[in-house]
Amino acid sequence: MDASSPEITPEIPAGATPMMAQYLTIKARVPDALLFYRMGDFYELFFDDAVAAAQALNITLTKRGKHGGDDIPMCGVPWNSHENYLARLIKAGFAVAICEQTEDPAEAKKRGSKSVVAREIVRIVTPGTLTEDALLDGGRSNYLGAVCFHPGDHKDEGALAWTDVSTGDLFIRTVTTENVHDAIAALDLSELVTPDDETPIEPWESALEKVGDIARVRQPRRDFRAIAGREALTTAFDVAALDAFGSFSDTELGAFGALLGYVSLTQIGKAPRYRPPRRASDADAMSIDAATRASLELLKTQRGERSGSLLSSIDRTLTGAGGRKLSSYIGAPLCCARQINDRLDAVAFLVDEAGRRENLRTLLKGAPDMARALSRLALGRGGPRDLAAIRDGVDVGRALATQLMTGDALVSAPPALAHCAKKLSDFSASGAPLSQLVDKLAAALKPDLPLLARDGDFIAPGFDPGLDQVRSLRDDARRHVAGLENDYRSETGVKTLKIKHNNIFGYFVEATAANAGPMLEEPLSNSFVHRQTLANAVRFTTAALAELDAKISRAGEESKAREADLFASLTEEALGCASAIGDAADALAEIDMFAANATLAEDARHIRPTVDDSLCFEVIGGRHPVVEESLTKSGGVFIANDCRLDADGAALLKLVTGPNMAGKSTYLRQNALIAILAHAGMFVPATQARIGVIDRIFSRVGASDDLARGRSTFMVEMVETAAILNQASPRSLVILDEIGRGTATFDGMAIAWAAIEHLHSATRARGLFATHYHELTALAASMPRIENVSMKVREWKGSVVFLHEVAEGAADRSYGVAVARLAGMPESVVKRAHELLRNLEAQRGGQTGVEALPLFAGEKSDAPLKKSDPLLEAIEKVDPDALSPREALTTLYELKKMAAEKC
Ligand code: ATP
Repeated sequence: MDASSPEITPEIPAGATPMMAQYLTIKARVPDALLFYRMGDFYELFFDDAVAAAQALNITLTKRGKHGGDDIPMCGVPWNSHENYLARLIKAGFAVAICEQTEDPAEAKKRGSKSVVAREIVRIVTPGTLTEDALLDGGRSNYLGAVCFHPGDHKDEGALAWTDVSTGDLFIRTVTTENVHDAIAALDLSELVTPDDETPIEPWESALEKVGDIARVRQPRRDFRAIAGREALTTAFDVAALDAFGSFSDTELGAFGALLGYVSLTQIGKAPRYRPPRRASDADAMSIDAATRASLELLKTQRGERSGSLLSSIDRTLTGAGGRKLSSYIGAPLCCARQINDRLDAVAFLVDEAGRRENLRTLLKGAPDMARALSRLALGRGGPRDLAAIRDGVDVGRALATQLMTGDALVSAPPALAHCAKKLSDFSASGAPLSQLVDKLAAALKPDLPLLARDGDFIAPGFDPGLDQVRSLRDDARRHVAGLENDYRSETGVKTLKIKHNNIFGYFVEATAANAGPMLEEPLSNSFVHRQTLANAVRFTTAALAELDAKISRAGEESKAREADLFASLTEEALGCASAIGDAADALAEIDMFAANATLAEDARHIRPTVDDSLCFEVIGGRHPVVEESLTKSGGVFIANDCRLDADGAALLKLVTGPNMAGKSTYLRQNALIAILAHAGMFVPATQARIGVIDRIFSRVGASDDLARGRSTFMVEMVETAAILNQASPRSLVILDEIGRGTATFDGMAIAWAAIEHLHSATRARGLFATHYHELTALAASMPRIENVSMKVREWKGSVVFLHEVAEGAADRSYGVAVARLAGMPESVVKRAHELLRNLEAQRGGQTGVEALPLFAGEKSDAPLKKSDPLLEAIEKVDPDALSPREALTTLYELKKMAAEKC
């Protein structure tokens, strides 16, 4: 795709109209995108683009003219409402190239009546390069990423660069073939740029195969060269060398090169005002792999919806930027107790200072999205409202800083909050460039602003003398026109005569048909030139009106041009303050996030967790924030539960048993979510919590087929369990829900058994393990640091009642059939299932533990030996010290014979 390349010239068939020839030439530059070809008030689509768009948008497909003898399929969307259609096409996975008319049709006509208006692609809209509020989710970052691995010696080491074009944020991190998938999943990317190598470079290419529903674009390998990255960065930051930003490896520069190159390609040479690249690293954040993210539904549910996720249920932020900040905190929780406590201090301060918090939140309600406004301005896509957003945003920042100050001194706010307040008060100090800009914008802009600068009339009177002068000429002429109406009434004697305006005549005189007679005759007809007779009215123009009309329209043009110049220079000044605006937007977002957290703590009864360097995990009265919210909405009550795990103490691993629907998964997940919230520096839904820093969190909940990648349920489960067993450390938290259920009972149980043993004895990670294999509860007898807990249920009139309470000890039975009845299974089926269950239990001879299973009958260390085996009894009876050598040999022969009979 190269939207600006003039070299790509397709073959234009003879007989094609000039317009079609222009269309085909432009379309050839963007074969992978739908071309929105501007024609007057519509964007038209032709050929296959029209067919695809009409289907995706459910709009009428028509035809227009012929091409090579065939009808040309066509559809169109109105210019003034195109964003809505654009959003739907982007969501459906299309890229859209916007082709605008770049000259006035009148200019084109001057070249000859058949000449075509000049058109150019002004932008290619793709999922990762959106900037319009209407196309974006305010509270969510919209990341575009580029991943680079170089073939050769270090092909295992790569880099991932990403940016949010709508804010200019820019990041880099190193990745390996092992973690590239998790790194990409952590960002919730909208689009990913990868090299278009003909032969995939294994094995990282296969890691990228897992990326799933992220739009993926392939760009030439040359864009991934270090030199491309160096050039792109030095140009973006207008510097000669990159030293001020830190040092970057060739692979990192390659990733930057492809990323910035793709932005430039889609924005036709333009770029957002990038913020200096920030380095992200695994060392700073708790590691959460892609499967865990999906299973805990942190930012979206497993169905891909925002609603129902952890984020949506805890988000109390009031600004888009605050929402994005919260989402980044949840997406990358910290793993350093000091940093976590810094954030918790800020939230705690605002919990205690409820009055101050409410004042801050009242101010935040009016805060616009400065970062996105700035980015639109940088991309030449901004309007007067974006300038106003910066003015108002900085104003809110000033007011926020004042709320956090007493006189000139900061109140004793904790460092994380004081840091934000200090930034905002420094920026808004009189004399600071940003403060000067905002004062200027306040003087420059009118209260009601048009969306587009070209519509004019947004600069306040008194701001620019030149503009005021042009406007007064225009207004004088308008007053003059109004005066003429009276003059013409006296001159003609037509009391109802009116001066009106339309686009064809400009200003004209209108009289009713009944009264217009004298004006059609001399001498009046000398000055009133008859132009049109309608059913009830007759229209005339006059030389004086024509002159005034020309004056007014000249003044109008001039004032628009003057306003456009003023807009450009104000935009330039705003871009000059880009870094201060970005920092102010950041500080504002952070204050919003802390205040939102404090509000959540109050609304939803969350408490401050103690986060330290111990290996403890102790949650008292813990709740699941999402399940609790939905239960409360429907009038239900969530039952709080405790969870104590301690890598240094008695309970390292808990085995949770209980019937289906009893709340096992909820209990497991709530503890994982409490850990994530605490590490994000947020209060948690519990009455008390102490958590020793967790380096990695693993959560596997059930398993489902991944047929798209050719993997069965069992395979998915095994790959994921293997990842946990290989990567977990004593600082990790492992949540396993029904591992092993994806295969035949014994295999599944054997794997679950071995995995628990490994976690208990080799890894020594804190963990919760829910299982339907009741046999596994026998593990607690042989492994000292496994504790059995179960979900309490009560039987009542043949039915089962879930108490949702976690109690000590293993569940006595599974109640599966009772749950089936609750689910509405036909009574006959339930009855039959009861009979079968009784038979099965009888066949097992009443054994319900692991000893009932042949697989575990021979387990030496953990399964008890069967006392009833005659061979074993014979061995037990042997007293080696009492035997003579001859007796010993005879006994050995006898035992061997017994063993042979057994086989
Ligand atoms: P299965 O074994 O079938 O997967 P489960 O034991 O994991 O079931 P959950 O899915 O955790 O059960 O919970 C089932 C439902 O019970 C939840 O959707 C929720 O409505 C309710 N529930 C779970 N825990 C609680 C709780 N602590 N308080 C109140 N209701 C709860």
